[in-house]
Amino acid sequence: MKNILVTGGAGFIGSHLCEKLLEQGNHIICLDNFFTGSRKNVEHLFDNREFELIRHDIIEPIILEVDQIYNLACPASPIHYQYNAIKTIKTNVLGVTNMLDLADSAKARILQASTSEVYGDPIVHPQKESYWGNVNPIGIRSCYDEGKRVAETLMMDYNRQHNVDIRIIRIFNTYGPRMAQNDGRVVSNFIVQALKNEDITIYGDGSQTRSFCYVDDLVRGMIALMNTENFIGPVNVGNDGEYTILDLAKIIIELTNSSSKIIFKPLPSDDPCQRKPDLSLAKEKLGYAPTVHVKDGLLKTIEYFQNVLLDA
Ligand code: NAD
Ligand code: UDP
Repeated sequence: MKNILVTGGAGFIGSHLCEKLLEQGNHIICLDNFFTGSRKNVEHLFDNREFELIRHDIIEPIILEVDQIYNLACPASPIHYQYNAIKTIKTNVLGVTNMLDLADSAKARILQASTSEVYGDPIVHPQKESYWGNVNPIGIRSCYDEGKRVAETLMMDYNRQHNVDIRIIRIFNTYGPRMAQNDGRVVSNFIVQALKNEDITIYGDGSQTRSFCYVDDLVRGMIALMNTENFIGPVNVGNDGEYTILDLAKIIIELTNSSSKIIFKPLPSDDPCQRKPDLSLAKEKLGYAPTVHVKDGLLKTIEYFQNVLLDA
């Protein structure tokens, strides 16, 4: 049994990670400031004696005895990370520094949840880890994109300078149950709009592409990276099926039997035109391949949002 800290553990991905790590027989300290996460996401774990929940902001230092740290604390959707852009970049600089200092003093291994956004609006397609990216340093997405890039730099420098045992995972668009209904991300927006038979809002002409990974696949990849020796990453984890946003809207309308119409709204600035992970490194080093087809994952997510809307 390991003592594992999951920051951002009451969020969408973090709550699934806590669940899986508990199932594997570990003791979990879930730490969250509840900005975008909620107690509700983890309340089904409260009866488990090996689960602890701490309200804390990683911008402040903390001392804990842990063996492993998964650092997920950071708002992930554009509307939430742009709501307080300065806080977002502080979370990725001060917050990550605090978690690295904790890893250093506790002699813990730390895994940083990085993102495909480090590639920006990529000119290389699909994206390999060796690509340095095309990121606007002064745009509205920069607090997140540049924040996550600095977080990777800090991880590498703590590794080189203090020998901290690090892992870096570059997560591509992930979806599934417990995404927040008001999250503003494409999968949750489209599903909620379709279930309410409201207009489906496509930003731009819908020709931009994304690759969508079901949360269970991602969590498997994260745990595999944390527990692989002699490989620190960065490594892409996601699903390499590529869809236009217009395709995604049509699939969700079909799966929900919705009467929603598609409408087009302006494309936010710096919105990447294309994105798809090259997963060969994840396959080679972690034996990772996605297993959940997008339609199956969407059906599970649709069922989740049906229940959320019924409870509302
Ligand atoms: P989420 O918003 O559901 O979860 C983030 C969690 O972090 C929330 O519970 C939030 O309350 C908490 N948090 C935010 N700032 C904090 C702070 N300063 N201190 C403590 N807690 C804080 O988002 P998610 O989709 O679960 O994303 C989790 C992580 O994965 C994030 O770091 C995100 O950048 C990364 N990621 C996610 C995706 C995706 O598609 N979902 C893609 C790439 C990277
Ligand atoms: N998007 C959209 N309608 C929505 C929400 C998002 O067309 O209601 C688009 C968005 O402009 C982007 C893509 O869907 O091109 C994915 O957006 P999301 O915020 O989910 O992820 P990210 O842009 O961070 O990859």
